[in-house]
Amino acid sequence: MERSNFPTASSVPFPYSPPYSVQRELMSAILTSLRQCSENAPSASSPATGPNHSNAAAAPSKRKAPIIMVESPTGTGKSLSLACAAMAWLRYREQEDLTELADSVADAAESPSNNQTDRKGSTKYDWLNSWQPSESDGRTADRASRTVPSTTTPQNPPARMRSFAISNRAALDGELNKIRARLETFSNVAAFSSDSSSIHPSAERSRRENLLRTGISRAMVAERKRSRGLLRDGKVVRGDKKRRLGERRAAEEADDFMLDEYHSEEEDKSTHRSDSDDDENDNDDSALSSIALGGKKRGHENLSTKAMLHGSNLDGSGYRRDPEKNARSKMIPGACSDTAAVGDVTPGSGLRKIIYAARTHSQLSQFVGELRRTHWAKSVKVVALGSRAVLCSNDDVLYVSPGDKTKGRRSEVEITEMCLDMQKSNKSNRSIAKGDAKSSSCPFLESSEAVSTLAMHSLVRPSDIEDVVSLGNATHTCSYYSSRQALAAAEVVVLPYNTLLSDQARQSIGLSLKNALVVIDEAHNLPEALRGVSSCTLSLPVIEAAIAQLSRYTQRYSGRLAGRNLYYLGQIRKVLIAMAKFLKLPPPSRSSSANEKTDECHEPSISKKEMLAAVDLMFRLKLDNLNLFTLLRYIKRSGISQKLLGFVNHSASVLENDRKETIGDSEQREAGGKNLFMSRHVSALSVVETFLKRLTGTSREGKVIVEWPTNEMAPITSSSERNYPIFRYVQIHSGSLLDNMIDEAHAIILAGGTLRPFSHVAAELFVHNDEVMKAALYAEAKLSQKFDSTTSLSMSPNNGSRPSSSFVHITPQLTAFTCSHVIPPSNVLTAYLSYGPSGLKLDFRHGSRSSNDMIDELGRTLLNLCNVAPSGFVVFLPSYSYESAIFQRWRVTGMLSQIHARKPIHREPKSSRDLDVTLSRYSEEASSSTRGAILFSVMGGKMSEGINFANEMARTVFVVGLPFPDITDPVLIEKMQSLDQECKRLGTGITGQAYYQNLCMRTVNQSVGRAIRHANDYAAIVLADFRYVSDLRIWKGLPAWSRSGIPKQSTSTFGNVLKSIRLFFAVR
Ligand code: SF4
Repeated sequence: MERSNFPTASSVPFPYSPPYSVQRELMSAILTSLRQCSENAPSASSPATGPNHSNAAAAPSKRKAPIIMVESPTGTGKSLSLACAAMAWLRYREQEDLTELADSVADAAESPSNNQTDRKGSTKYDWLNSWQPSESDGRTADRASRTVPSTTTPQNPPARMRSFAISNRAALDGELNKIRARLETFSNVAAFSSDSSSIHPSAERSRRENLLRTGISRAMVAERKRSRGLLRDGKVVRGDKKRRLGERRAAEEADDFMLDEYHSEEEDKSTHRSDSDDDENDNDDSALSSIALGGKKRGHENLSTKAMLHGSNLDGSGYRRDPEKNARSKMIPGACSDTAAVGDVTPGSGLRKIIYAARTHSQLSQFVGELRRTHWAKSVKVVALGSRAVLCSNDDVLYVSPGDKTKGRRSEVEITEMCLDMQKSNKSNRSIAKGDAKSSSCPFLESSEAVSTLAMHSLVRPSDIEDVVSLGNATHTCSYYSSRQALAAAEVVVLPYNTLLSDQARQSIGLSLKNALVVIDEAHNLPEALRGVSSCTLSLPVIEAAIAQLSRYTQRYSGRLAGRNLYYLGQIRKVLIAMAKFLKLPPPSRSSSANEKTDECHEPSISKKEMLAAVDLMFRLKLDNLNLFTLLRYIKRSGISQKLLGFVNHSASVLENDRKETIGDSEQREAGGKNLFMSRHVSALSVVETFLKRLTGTSREGKVIVEWPTNEMAPITSSSERNYPIFRYVQIHSGSLLDNMIDEAHAIILAGGTLRPFSHVAAELFVHNDEVMKAALYAEAKLSQKFDSTTSLSMSPNNGSRPSSSFVHITPQLTAFTCSHVIPPSNVLTAYLSYGPSGLKLDFRHGSRSSNDMIDELGRTLLNLCNVAPSGFVVFLPSYSYESAIFQRWRVTGMLSQIHARKPIHREPKSSRDLDVTLSRYSEEASSSTRGAILFSVMGGKMSEGINFANEMARTVFVVGLPFPDITDPVLIEKMQSLDQECKRLGTGITGQAYYQNLCMRTVNQSVGRAIRHANDYAAIVLADFRYVSDLRIWKGLPAWSRSGIPKQSTSTFGNVLKSIRLFFAVR
C-alpha cells in the first residue's frame, strides 16, 4: 500500500503565511525528532512483549519515548506551532497505523517464513495458546491483551480488524459531520439574516446549544420508548421476578466483603485485583457503566451514539473471532476487547492521541483556541478533561446556598463527595433491573442518551471546559461524565497536570498513554507537580479509623477467615498500632519548631517537625523486621482496603435503612470515615497503603516528616487536620516518576517559555538516564558558548532588528530546542534599578525589605514611575506576606491613596475563583486611558503564569526583589545536599546552590515574560534590587531576549532609569 511522506515544517499547513521563522524552526525540530523516533520505533505489526511472555529473554530491549525539550519565549506563537506540528504528525501517523496493518498481512501472505503460524496452525508464541483473558474481569482482560501481538493469531485477521476499525471510525465521523453540517446551515442562515459574515463566539455557542437540545430530545424520546419495559439480558423483568432478583442480590451482598482464601506470595498475579482500583474509581465506573447500559439496550442496526464513541470499536480491538459475535458486538459497546488495536494503542482506549497537559485551565483553553485556528479545526476531535469542581453543572452541589450564589462555592472535595454520594445512594436504591433509564439521583445524569449526545456534540468543534459546561448547563446534562465518555473517541485530550501525572487518575478515567504524543506545557512546573502528586500525608485520626474498621471486620468474619488472612490482618494491625503509638508520643526534644510560610492564602500554624528516612522510621516504629513488600503485596492482592470500605459503608447503610441504633452516632461516624479530612468514598486503609508504598522507595527519593502540633491536642470536632500529629511523605527527587510515561508514550514534548538550563530539567527528571543527561549537558554547554552571546550581548535597544536565531540539538533520546524572541530589540526596555528616588539602596533581601524605610522608598519609586508610564502597570512582589505588609504601611502613611490617585489600584485576589473578575476590571481600566491602572501581584502566584497581559494591559512590568525560596526548608536543604553529592559523583555540573538560584530565576522570568505577548507588543521591564546589577550570575539567569548588555551601577540610579523610561514611551 502506498505510503504518504512524513510531514515537514514546510509541508505543514499553517494558519497564516509565512509563520515567524522561530515557529517554522520549532515545528522542524519537533517533526525531525518525531521522524527519527518513528524510524526507530517497532511497527504496529511487530510482536509486542509483556511480563507474561515466556520468551522475554529473546525480546528486543524496551523502547523508551524520546524527550523533546522546546523553549520558546512567551509571545512567539509557541502553542500554535506545537498544535500544528502535533496535528500534522497525528494525521500522518493514523494513516500509517492503518496502512501498516494491511501491509503486514500482505507480507505474511507473500513470505511464509515471515508468517507467525506454522503449518499446523500453531503460533510461534506458545504462551498465546494458553492465554485466555477472563471475560468476567474486564480490567484483567484489558491488561493481558496489551501484551498480545496484533498479527500473531490466525483467529484475529488484522485485515478484518482494520476494516472493523475503519468502518466504525467512518460511522463516528459521519455522525459528527452531520451535526457539523447542521451547525453550518444554522450559521449561514444567521449570517444571512444579520447581514454579517463574522460569527460571534457567543452566537456560535448558542447555536450549538440549540442543536444539542434537539439532539437530546430526540434521543430521550427513543430512550423513553425503550424503557417502558424493564430489560435484563434481553428479557422483560417485572413484578415478582424483579423482587426476587433484588432479594437474591441482597443475600449475595453480605458475602461481597469476605476475603478470598490467601495461599502464598507466589500466586499468579492475574487472579488478583489491581492496587489501582481505588474506591472513587469504582464509584465513577459504576456511574459510567450505568450510562453504558443504556446504550447496550439499543436494538438498532446502526451503531448507537455510545457505541460510536466507544474505544474498542474505533481501534478495532472490539473485533471478535466469531463473525456472528462480531456482528453483534457492533451493537454491544462493552464487548470484550480480545485483540490488540490499530496503532498498537491500548485495546479499548480508542484512537491514537495527542495528550496536552498544562497547569491552569486558562492555559488549556488557550491551546484549544490555537487548535481552532489550525487547518484541522473542522475535523479534529478534542476533549477537555477537568475535575467535577469545574465541569459540574448542578448548582445544588456547586454552591453552599444555590439560591444565593454570593455565599460562595463548595470546595472541590465537597463537590466530589456530594456527587459520589448521589451515585452511591442511587446505586443502593436502584432497581436491580439495569434497564432502568434513571442511572443517578443527580438530575443532570438521569438520561444516558443525553450524556452520550452531549459527548458527541462536544467533539464536533474543538471545545474547551467553558464550552462544554455551557452546553451541559443549557441542556441540564452532566458535562463531567459526558467528557469522560467522549475520551475514547478524542484525538486530542487536554487535561490538567494532576490527571496526567497520577497513574491512578489516568486509570480511573481510562486514559492510556500508549503510543500517544504527550505534550507538557510550561514544563518548568513539572518537577514540582510530580513531587506534589507523589507526596502524601497520614494523620492519627485516619490510622485510628483504620484500626477500628479492621477490628470490626475481623470480629465479624473471624470464624470464616483462613489462616494466612488472619496472619496478614494481624500484621496490618501491628503496623497501624505502632504508627498510632508513635504519633501519640510527645515530639522528641531535638525536633525543630517551624513557622510555616505565612502568606495570606494559608492560615499560619506552628508545629514541631522531624525529618526521617523511611528506614529510620521503621526502626523507630520497631518494625524493622517487617517485610513491607510482602505486606503490601497481600494488601494489593486481597483487595482488603476496598473490602473494608465496602463492609463499613454496607454496615452504615443497613443501620440507616433499618433505623436501628445498635451503633451509636459517634461510632458510625468513625467507621464511615467522617471528620477524617478524607473522602467517605476512600478507604482509610488505602490511605495507609499509599503511605506504606512510599516507604518502600529509596531514601534518596523521599523522606518522612513527622509533624506534631505544639498546642494541646485539639478536640475531636476540630475541622483541621493540622491539629493532629501526622506523617508527611515528601518526594525530594522526581527522577523516576516519569518512568511509566516514558515506557508507554510515543514521544514526550516538554515545552515552555523558561525551560533552560536544559541540564537542570534533565537533572531533575532524568538523572538516571545517561543518554538524556549527556545530551542535555552538551546542549546547554553549546548554548552558553554560542547562542546566548548572539542573542543578548550583541544587542542593544537601538541596533535595529533582532536576527532570528534558534538552536537545536537532536539525539535519539533527547531533542533540545531554543530560540530568540520575535520582537525587535527596540520594543523592549530592560532597566535595572538599584536606588530609589531618595538615594536609598534598594535591598529587598528578607532581612531588610520589611523596614519602614524600604517600604516607603518602594512607594515613592512607584509613585514617580506612574507619572511617566502609560496604561497598564503590573508590579510583581516577592511574596504574599510582603504584599500584605506594604499595603498595611501605605495605608497608614497615605501612600496608597497617592498611588491610587495616579493609577487606580488593583490587587491579586486571594481566591482563584475571583481571578477573572479582577482581571477584567483591571484590563478595562488599564486599556481605557493613558492614565491606565496598576495591578499588584505576586511572583509565582496566580497571575505570574498563563495570564495574557498583552498591549495596554502591561506597558510596564515592575519586579520587586528576588523570590528565593525559604533556605531553611528541610526538604530544600535535603535536595540541595543530594545535588551536591551527585555533582561530585556523576559530574552533572549542577550544584545545590545553582539549583537554588535557578528556582528563583525561573519565577522572575515567568513574571518578566508577561510583558511581551506578540511581535508588535512593546514594554518596559524594571528590575528593582541592587543584586540584579551586583551579581552577574543573576543577570545571566534572565531570559536572553530581555538582557540588553551587562548592567552598571552608574546607570541604575533612579534618575537614569526614570529618564530612559520616559524616552522609551515618548517615541511610541
Ligand atoms: S453527576 Fe455531574 S452534574 Fe451531577 S453532581 Fe456529579 S458532576 Fe455534578
